Amino acid sequence: MHVVGLTGGIGSGKSTLAGALRAQGVPVIDADEVARRCVAPGTPGLVAVVERFGSGVLLADGSLDRTRLAAIVFADASARKDLEAITHPCIAQGIADDVAALAVRADRPDVVVIEHPLLVETGAHVRVDVVVVVETPLELRVERLIATRGMGEADARARIAAQADDAQRRAIADHVVINDGDLSALRAEAGPLLEEIRASVAPHE
Ligand code: ADP
Repeated sequence: MHVVGLTGGIGSGKSTLAGALRAQGVPVIDADEVARRCVAPGTPGLVAVVERFGSGVLLADGSLDRTRLAAIVFADASARKDLEAITHPCIAQGIADDVAALAVRADRPDVVVIEHPLLVETGAHVRVDVVVVVETPLELRVERLIATRGMGEADARARIAAQADDAQRRAIADHVVINDGDLSALRAEAGPLLEEIRASVAPHE
């Protein structure tokens, strides 16, 4: 089974490429979704978050107010470190569990993709066999974030700046997909990419 880490900066198009890979029948594990599981109501993760940040980060129904928490940690690096110390081990374990569950299936897939916005930042790239990076010119990313996520320009730029940069992602990439065309051009990359990955030697037999 080829375990593929798919990453790219915010607004680069990695979710779009992940969707195209899914459409080719490849299972995609979404690190954001695993992260939400780690702080769902009733989890030790949510208890730890409330202990650190107070009940002000909870919504009326007891679930996490992700927007509020994001604003806090975005403005305060030490708060962000504390949050990461709570969530990152759980996210890494959750992803590993999901990969292991696929590996023991009778119809085990030959490729599994982990879509991970912070593959580089968390060091998770060392636990995958192949790293795919989606790279998009900065100005296009800013435009897309403003157009599709309702972000202000300053916010979009600040969020981009808070992540690893293209050079850091490129340094760990086995495949770089440049997303400077239209959506169908990006989606069309999925098939050839899978062919290349399948043609390489599968490390986990
Ligand atoms: P990410 O997951 O890396 O943050 P997304 O895949 O969500 O990025 O893409 C960000 C936004 O830009 C989405 O609304 C997506 O539809 C749009 N987008 C991505 N690639 C293209 C493209 N090549 N042309 C036009 N819009 C695009």
